Amino acid sequence: MHILILSDIHANLAALEAVLAHAGQYDVLWLLGDIVGYGPDPNACIECLAAREHVAIAGNHDWAVLGKVDLAEFNGDARQANLWTQEQLTPSSLAYLEALPEMRVRDGFTLAHGSPRAPIWEYLIYSNVAKASFAHLTTPICLVGHTHLPVIFRDVPGTPQCQAVHPPEDTPLILDDEHYIINPGSVGQPRDGDARAAYAVLDTETHTIIYRRVAYDIAETQQKMRAVGLPRRNIERLSVGW
Ligand code: ZN
Repeated sequence: MHILILSDIHANLAALEAVLAHAGQYDVLWLLGDIVGYGPDPNACIECLAAREHVAIAGNHDWAVLGKVDLAEFNGDARQANLWTQEQLTPSSLAYLEALPEMRVRDGFTLAHGSPRAPIWEYLIYSNVAKASFAHLTTPICLVGHTHLPVIFRDVPGTPQCQAVHPPEDTPLILDDEHYIINPGSVGQPRDGDARAAYAVLDTETHTIIYRRVAYDIAETQQKMRAVGLPRRNIERLSVGW
């Protein structure tokens, strides 16, 4: 089974469409949260996804537009974008987001936006924090998003650390019998210095994962953001992948 894993789309339709075209055939589509927030196309992204069979969980931005988390937790630009998103969402988009669970286990994998310990909020950037998360897993592999940084954490039982692997592009990596926390990076707002949309494909037959990047029309998304008055910093960061 080929699992197409997308996270942090952030209402960037041009990036989402480029990823879906680039990914080609897959068996199942899993989304790791933050479908909306920051970007100019919240309804169009939800409609694009709702037209395909998929499994999804909620992210902090998805919950913020529903009032399930306090916007005081957001920085000014993220808050402004979230308030704009709230005004745009159609009743069917709101119903879609309302139905997203906080975390789920599917086919032997855990799906959590931030971490299995604190699914909506915890950022797994450093290995010592990731290490603490493994104790909260009931499956060997957990898929997360939230940091917008592609990374694989591999647990080494009996040691206080876990390994952080920065996966190369287009190179299948074998997942052995150890436990893993895997972040595919962000479709709609990459933050690893590469402005291209990021995603990953997991192959359950060969036990491999491959990280992929695709260029998309950044200027188109930026133009839409400018037209509706979204924060300048969020527009500019798309050019540099930060
Ligand atoms: Zn995000």
